[in-house]
Amino acid sequence: METSHSDRTSAHPNPENRPTWAEIDLEALAFNYHSVRSFVGKGIRYLAVVKADAYGHGALKCARRLQDEGVDWFGVATVEEGVELRQGGISRPILVMGGFWPGQIRIGLDNTLTPAVFTIEQASSIDRVANEIGTKIDVHLKFDTGMGRLGFPFEKAGEIAAELTQMKGLKIDGLMTHFASADDLECDLTGRQIERFELIVKLFREKGFEPSYLDLANSPGAVAHPASRSGMVRLGGVLYGLGGDVLPQGIEAPELRPVMSVRSRIAQLKTIRTGDSVGYSQTFVATRETRIASVPIGYHDGLRRNLSNTGNMIVRGRSAPIVGRISMDWTTIDVTDICEASVGDLVTVIGSDSGSEINAEDIARELGTISYEITCGIRDRVPRIISEEYRP
Ligand SMILES: *Cc1c(COP(=O)(O)O)cnc(C)c1O
Repeated sequence: METSHSDRTSAHPNPENRPTWAEIDLEALAFNYHSVRSFVGKGIRYLAVVKADAYGHGALKCARRLQDEGVDWFGVATVEEGVELRQGGISRPILVMGGFWPGQIRIGLDNTLTPAVFTIEQASSIDRVANEIGTKIDVHLKFDTGMGRLGFPFEKAGEIAAELTQMKGLKIDGLMTHFASADDLECDLTGRQIERFELIVKLFREKGFEPSYLDLANSPGAVAHPASRSGMVRLGGVLYGLGGDVLPQGIEAPELRPVMSVRSRIAQLKTIRTGDSVGYSQTFVATRETRIASVPIGYHDGLRRNLSNTGNMIVRGRSAPIVGRISMDWTTIDVTDICEASVGDLVTVIGSDSGSEINAEDIARELGTISYEITCGIRDRVPRIISEEYRP
């Protein structure tokens, strides 16, 4: 990879393509998994959350690598995402955290996906299918202990356990809940969620259930709340190196490396005079003779338009401010102070080059959001290229 960073003038690895791409560093992904696992503990199981195309990083390639590294389970949002993994050769168990929609039970089962179940209606329709085909179906029950989103209400755990004892087609193999504020150490909700979950587990055991999996923790839970590291943890953001804004600040944390970089190349350079403007609505007016580089990436690629006149890109290891409006396909940057800048130069939008770095967390902070939205927002027009695939 180092060589490609300094290779500023050669063509894109696929010279027939527009030179804008996202580099996915699977070595960093593997590093992050092992780094978190050493920190959190080896005695538990690890579910890698690869929903939303692995937070924009490419679900299948990330999942294949994580499977090779020994991850126990995968978590997706939808049946469609689970089917993609199965068709791509993922053999480990896959939890569909958003559940099966009514018409998807058969396809879910045909692909050996495990549903999260959070309503009695879901439970009974899966039970019905199990009875039809004469089998028992593994499900994980999701309880709402304070998130206020998906899940059976924790107060009803006793009643729900009683109802489920009647559904002989279901094997309740997991109980799960999800934290609302595990990144905030001042907030006492996490502690209450853990207590509520422990009570749920007790009630289910009293009714004779023996679930194999009890899981609460997301990334900030696993790293910052040791009490939530029960049988399994469900990790998303930390695997992709996005700890900066989803882990509590100032705590001891595992070392993480960013997995996604977004790069492009200078397509055109021009010098404009004092008083000339750049881009739609003339939001930038030059106060000196200014060298403008046009870069083929825009808001359709996921470069958010709110970065107009505030964001930066890196050229030859130096920061180049975004000037004028970001448009659908193009962005203009000021390279006046980078005199060697040339057409074809590598432009780093997210990532590092020669000691300068812009990470997804920096961009998120600028925009008042979190890094997940930035990496998820990089659109399909930007090809995901595994680092080794284009190493010159
Ligand atoms: C997305 C998700 C996770 C992963 O959260 P991170 O903060 O990215 O680790 C875990 N559990 C559930 C239910 C989720 O929806």
